[in-house]
Amino acid sequence: MTDSQLVFDGVNKYFGENHVLKDIDLDVEDGEVVVVVGPSGSGKSTLLRCTNRLEEIQSGEIRLEGVSLTDPETDINLLRQRIGMVFQSFNLFPHKTALQNVTLAPRKVKGIPESEAERTARDLLERVGLDGKADSYPHQLSGGQQQRVAIARALAMRPHVMLFDEVTSALDPELVGEVLSVMRGLADEGMTMLVVTHEMGFAREVGDRIVLMADGEKVEEAPPEEFFENPETERAKQFLSKFL
Ligand code: ADP
Ligand code: MG
Repeated sequence: MTDSQLVFDGVNKYFGENHVLKDIDLDVEDGEVVVVVGPSGSGKSTLLRCTNRLEEIQSGEIRLEGVSLTDPETDINLLRQRIGMVFQSFNLFPHKTALQNVTLAPRKVKGIPESEAERTARDLLERVGLDGKADSYPHQLSGGQQQRVAIARALAMRPHVMLFDEVTSALDPELVGEVLSVMRGLADEGMTMLVVTHEMGFAREVGDRIVLMADGEKVEEAPPEEFFENPETERAKQFLSKFL
């Protein structure tokens, strides 16, 4: 049997004494959207950060396309290029334009020629609804626009998997929709996505599977209809009652 595209296999992570990921098993199939929900402090961000080794795990294994992220033989920088990540804080380079933010990594990391990188970047900016904003600086853009530049920047590396960590949490409510709609478009195009969000409408509509984390454990994993209509665990019922 071949591996799923992204596999968490008995993953344990500690911060000192604090056991923040407890034996996490999770498979994300090619083209699948898995949405991770759960209370603050449950380990959602850590799970994503371990996936591109911004954090090290203590035991278990994370594999991307069958290749272990933690194997010393693995070229982690190459593997990282296949994993796009977008955070709550957009982290754009403030003194670079939208276009320059998107072309930087392909040029520096992949050595893509400037003209080609720019062509790709313009296509990506158009795809996230920002044609016409290529020459704007981050401070000239709304939060929703900045976050869409951040998504275009991640896509510019042609990732095989995209990780989203509460990318709409810092946005004014009226700007949330434009970012979610870009994510929905990516999902429709078949991008493999692991998404941490509190947007339950999005989770239900776009998610192929919902994972509930609590206290570092994967408490429940189910298709959205099942998770939202008929949760199995008390933890899930309790969690969902907060969104009614
Ligand atoms: P979530 O994203 O679900 O809110 P996190 O993954 O950020 O949860 O945090 C999980 C646990 O790990 C929390 O107890 C948090 O305090 C702890 N934690 C997160 N990052 C660090 C860190 N860099 N150093 C020490 N503890 C951390
Ligand atoms: Mg978090």
